Amino acid sequence: MARRTRVTLLAGGTGGAKLARGLALLGDAVDLTVIANVADDTEMHGLHVSPDIDAICYHLAGIADTERGWGIAGDTRSAHAMLERLGAPAWFTIGDADLATSIERTRRLRDGQRLTEVVTAMASALRIGARVLPATDDRYRTVVVTDAGPLEFQDYFVRLRQEPEVRELTFDGADTARPTNEMLEAIAGADLVVIGPSNPLVSIAPIVALPGVRSAIEAARGSRVAVSPIVAGAALKGPAARMLASLGHEVSARGVARIYAGLVERFVIDLADADAAPSIEALGLAVDVLPTIMSGDEQARALAAAVVEPATGA
Ligand code: GDP
Repeated sequence: MARRTRVTLLAGGTGGAKLARGLALLGDAVDLTVIANVADDTEMHGLHVSPDIDAICYHLAGIADTERGWGIAGDTRSAHAMLERLGAPAWFTIGDADLATSIERTRRLRDGQRLTEVVTAMASALRIGARVLPATDDRYRTVVVTDAGPLEFQDYFVRLRQEPEVRELTFDGADTARPTNEMLEAIAGADLVVIGPSNPLVSIAPIVALPGVRSAIEAARGSRVAVSPIVAGAALKGPAARMLASLGHEVSARGVARIYAGLVERFVIDLADADAAPSIEALGLAVDVLPTIMSGDEQARALAAAVVEPATGA
C-alpha cells in the first residue's frame, strides 16, 4: 500500500470545514490534520464558544447543518427560547446540541485542560479520524475596527450583521498568544500544507500571524497550496468580499493570490476565474483551475483529491 499523504489544512469555519470533510472522505490515502482558527471564539451565556473549531468538527463528523451553514443538522432551539424568555442576550443563536458542545468544552477548560486537549478529546468522542488542532491554546481574538468603533468579532459578524464598514483588523492577544507545539509540528511534518478557502483576513491571517507560523510554513518540507475563497469576484458566503475591498485588496482570486504569494507555491482557482490564471502565474505561483464550489460531499471530495494529487507519493 502506498504511504499515506500527510496533509495539514489551515481552516476557518465554512469553506475550510467543507474542504476538511472532502479530505477526510479520501480515507486511508490521507493522514489529515486541521489547524483551526480560534480568533472568532467568544464567551456567550458564560460558555466558551469556538465557532470555527465546531464547524470543522461537525463537518468531519458528518453532522453539520450544511443548508443553514452553521450548527448541527436537525438541531432544536429550546434552550435558546428559554434563555431569551429569561432575559439573556439572544442575538447569538445556539442550537440545543450545539450548546452541549460549548458546555462540555467550558467544563473541560475549567478543569484545567488546554484547548488542544479539549478538542482532541471531543473530536475522538465524535469518532473523527482526523486531528483537529486549535491554532493556539491562548486567548487570541480578532478586533474589527469599524466606523462604529472597535468590535469583538461575533458582535460585528452576528449582532451587527457585518454592516459596519471595516477600517482595520487587529488581534487582541497578539503579543502573548503562542502557536501550539502540536500545530507547528503538523506544519513541519506535512507532505502538503493546504490553506483552505476560508476568509483570508479573519480566518487564515490570525493563524499565520501567530509568532513563528509564517516562517514554519515557509520552511515546511512539504509543498504548499491555497484554494481561493473568492469565486468570480464574490464570496460564496459572509463578509470576505466586502472586507477585502474595505481594506484595499482587489476582490478577486488574484487579490487573494497576492495575499498568499510567498507563503504558498500553488494556487487553486475556480473554473469561473480561468482567465485570471496568467496574471496569478505572474505573481510566481503555479495555478490549478478546478471546480471549487463544494455544494456537497461529492464536490468536496473531488476538490480534495485534485488538491492532494500533486503531493501524492512525495
Ligand atoms: P466563516 O468562518 O464561516 O466566515 O468561514 P470561512 O473563514 O471558511 O470563510 C468564508 C469564505 O469561504 C468565503 O469567502 C466563501 O466564499 C468561502 N467558501 C465557502 N464555501 C466555499 C466553497 O465551497 N468553495 C470555495 N472556493 N470557497 C468557499
